[in-house]
Amino acid sequence: MEVKTSLLDNMIGVGDMVLLEPLSEDSFLENLKKRFDHNEIYTYIGSVVISMNPYRSLPIFTPEKVEEYRNRNFYELSPHIYALADEAYRSLRDQDKDQCILITGESGAGKTEASKLVMSYVAAVCGKGQEVNKVKEQLLQSNPVLEAFGNAKTVRNDNSSRFGKYMDIEFDFKGDPLGGVISNYLLEKSRVVKQPRGERNFHVFYQLLSGASDDTLKKLKLHRDFSKYNYLSLDSAIVNGLDDAANFRTVRIVGFMEDEVQSVLELVAAVLKLGNIEFKPESRCNGTDESRIKDKNGEPTDEESVLERAFSYRTVEAKMEKVSTTLNVAQAYYARDALAKNLYSRLFSWLVTRINESIKVTKTRHKVMGVLDIYGFEIFEDNSFEQFIINYCNEKLQQIFIELTLHEEQEEYIREGIEWTNIDMNLHLLSNNQNGILAMLDEECLRPGTVTDETFLDKLNTICAEHQHFESRLSKNSKFLNDHSLPHNCFRIQHYAGKVLYRVEGFVDKNNDLLYRDLSQAMYKANHSLIKQLFPEGNPSKVNLKRPPTAGFQFKASVGTLMKNLQTKNPNYIRCIKPNDKKASHIFTESLVRHQVRYLGLMENVRVRRAGYAFRQAYEPCLERYKMLCKRTWPHWRGPEREGVEVLMTDLQVPADEFSYGRSKIFIRNPRTLFFLEERRRQC
Ligand code: ADP
Ligand code: MG
Repeated sequence: MEVKTSLLDNMIGVGDMVLLEPLSEDSFLENLKKRFDHNEIYTYIGSVVISMNPYRSLPIFTPEKVEEYRNRNFYELSPHIYALADEAYRSLRDQDKDQCILITGESGAGKTEASKLVMSYVAAVCGKGQEVNKVKEQLLQSNPVLEAFGNAKTVRNDNSSRFGKYMDIEFDFKGDPLGGVISNYLLEKSRVVKQPRGERNFHVFYQLLSGASDDTLKKLKLHRDFSKYNYLSLDSAIVNGLDDAANFRTVRIVGFMEDEVQSVLELVAAVLKLGNIEFKPESRCNGTDESRIKDKNGEPTDEESVLERAFSYRTVEAKMEKVSTTLNVAQAYYARDALAKNLYSRLFSWLVTRINESIKVTKTRHKVMGVLDIYGFEIFEDNSFEQFIINYCNEKLQQIFIELTLHEEQEEYIREGIEWTNIDMNLHLLSNNQNGILAMLDEECLRPGTVTDETFLDKLNTICAEHQHFESRLSKNSKFLNDHSLPHNCFRIQHYAGKVLYRVEGFVDKNNDLLYRDLSQAMYKANHSLIKQLFPEGNPSKVNLKRPPTAGFQFKASVGTLMKNLQTKNPNYIRCIKPNDKKASHIFTESLVRHQVRYLGLMENVRVRRAGYAFRQAYEPCLERYKMLCKRTWPHWRGPEREGVEVLMTDLQVPADEFSYGRSKIFIRNPRTLFFLEERRRQC
């Protein structure tokens, strides 16, 4: 068969990597680049969508584009995120299949934007009418609120999500949206009190100060000037292209009462003011220093004195006895910051709960579409507990991706009655299960006696020393004794996406996540119903000596629930890639993209797809597309579509071993066959 590869010579590259010929990492990258240079930011690997961040607005997200992709077959038009959204939605509506959209990629790769595009596409094509529109609006409106409170400018992304988000959109049997449920995962609360150089605190602080009316600020006793607040970083307070004031006005907290909004703003203000409390030492007769709040104006109110007491003393309950110890200045600052972080993160969770109340489904739901937009893999210079948790989550997601894509492939073959030959895939990515470290951290945190980050590291050194993905200077018989890139207070883990060096400092503390009881009691005594509500454990009549679960334990449990949930749904994948680390358009940094292609396992993905029948298409769209190539099928084929396709293939003399007839689809082995068909079609 003479084959012309017009699809390959095509100026804009190949739309589906499965058709890439020859296939190598270099040709894969070349194809991505070619497409990127021609504004083609989407490329398929079969049904997986690769999305390159263009870092500028492209005219491909218009209502016209929505119409173009609506009700069309996946492979019919050029690759687009709308095609994936459409396929997922129709499968939900017409085949009653719960869907999930899994969006992965590193920070700044475009995950959050992709999740919004999917949501807005689905909103555009599903249902009509006043009531439905109200639901849609509420669902879409939850984004700006959560972004104001949960996103921040980082070195990698000016609008980086600092929390993980999973949203279930629920539909009725007609495919009209009814409402939804949002789950949030681990907000990076350390940002509230301290930001890395070149980064900001959460957007809402800047939005409030620059966007609120003079009157509102006066009521909240706030200054407009960022520089008045210790918790706000100044070196990057203004972000190009980010209009805090305008964003503040668009943040409408859907379904919230006026007084609730006021309460929320009061809490945001309280966090800023907490940051400005300073302490000074006061000598005591026994020679120790006790902290006192500096520069108070006038007599403190009752609430202030409760809080002040909480910053000066700590009550420890031991065997039914209460012992009060004094806090020194460093401990007082620590307590202050712990309170600010807790106040803010509890406020954030409360917001999610409150939004969920307003989008709650009361009718019987029928089908669900879940959209997962969770922090991507992070490798910083300084990696701590947060990165460890985030990377653990990504490791789980990658594992699911591999399991499900393989599984899906296998199922499809069986369903279609085509023989499945096992593919020898490199599954080493799966074996890297880091659960052990979290479990050991918990064990250490719960152990009586003196527990420090160092004792935790010692424990890792004894237990993980032999693990091939674990490296540390101090492990017994350490191979790394002379490796000076590996400091003594660190351990290094080989994740699927690369090696990460973690500094143990803060692991124990962040995992414990304990707030002194005096502080929660002080909060509970506050004359503010929202604050009271956020610190239920401060209620003195509820003496609960049980230790709350650790941060790591909670995260692991919620990720576990999430994974189970995802596995019950039909997965749709969007793999986001960041073309450069300058946040710039038109720049394709090959080494950077290559690294992402590698750790996202995209080459393996293509290989799995191609190992068997690379290309498959349901009979109907196949006939539709190629019927013009054969007199007997043109212009109308009367009869079963499968027979039409059989006639077509016979007529075109495509060799029999090149394809196979499944129950509902034709499977084509070699991309060349497809080029041949496409070429004939082009000549028609
Ligand atoms: P992530 O969630 O993966 O960290 P974002 O979705 O926040 O990344 O994207 C980072 C930035 O990249 C956005 O703020 C936006 O400026 C730009 N961006 C991402 N996707 C697109 C897109 N499809 N079109 C235009 N700009 C985009
Ligand atoms: Mg994001």
